[in-house]
Amino acid sequence: MRPTATEHPRSRGRGGKGARIIDRTGSSPRDLTRPLRTAAAIVALLSLGVIAPTLGASPMPEQLPGSGPSAAPAGSGLPGQPVAAAPAPVPAATPAAPVTPATDGLRPGASGGDVKALQRKLRVRGIKVPVDGNYGARTRAGVRILQRKLKLKATGVADAALLAKLGLKIRAVASNPATLSAPATARYLKVFPVVGDYSYEDDFGDPRGQGAHQGNDIIGTMGMQLVSCVDGTISRLTREETGLGGIWIWIVDGQGNEYYYAHMASISPELKAGSKVTAGQTVGTMGMTGDARGTVPHLHFEIRPNGGGSINPFTDLRAVDPKRK
Ligand SMILES: [Zn+2]
Repeated sequence: MRPTATEHPRSRGRGGKGARIIDRTGSSPRDLTRPLRTAAAIVALLSLGVIAPTLGASPMPEQLPGSGPSAAPAGSGLPGQPVAAAPAPVPAATPAAPVTPATDGLRPGASGGDVKALQRKLRVRGIKVPVDGNYGARTRAGVRILQRKLKLKATGVADAALLAKLGLKIRAVASNPATLSAPATARYLKVFPVVGDYSYEDDFGDPRGQGAHQGNDIIGTMGMQLVSCVDGTISRLTREETGLGGIWIWIVDGQGNEYYYAHMASISPELKAGSKVTAGQTVGTMGMTGDARGTVPHLHFEIRPNGGGSINPFTDLRAVDPKRK
């Protein structure tokens, strides 16, 4: 059997990020409109988060700022991730080079939702920075620490290379239709495992302390409702913090596929190993137990087809994400 502490096995599976990064930096047909714009207009568009030039005429109303359920409850401290959040001001690329990617990253002095997303990513990796949306000295220092860990040049600027490694999809990528179109049906999941105002990204395969990340982290707030993603059986669980996952459950469906929920705050009291669960049934609450302690509340979620190696759950999550419909 697999060891209980399976949050970060050492397999080096990647999430196909290379292709997506190329998508981001590749020129789209809509880029052809850019030379028609004045330098001032380009600066203005960039400061709006480059939504306008990349969105163009593509019909993606669910991605327009403020159109989705992305606003966090007041005081939650966790506004939506950049995919759904209102675009944040970013340092504009020089208008003289309009053919370069629309964003070259986040720099000290920047502020807004994208900076918050960056700060949350740092905290998930154990780098203590304030999640205040302001790219100040502490954030710059945190970025340097991460860059050294990742063997990148420690500039303190969250450039495109770093953002890609973090799976942060700001602006250009977020507005790329190829990365937004959810598949019509999920292969494994029936229900999204978190209820509430969560956010997540394709962070499968990201470098973590113990190796490549084996799932997706769905970030939310402490105590957020977690539900079974399938009809199945609780195969194992622990209410005592055990291993990297802390408080966790495994659900197995009728086909033998396994689903891992880690860092939970609590497990529903009626559940025990062998309990049947139906898709959408509450199984517990979100926390930050195990090696998530001191980071941000999130569900570490894995899919293991037939109980084997984990696959990237991102496309399945998107397919059942009610915020995408
Ligand atoms: Zn995780």
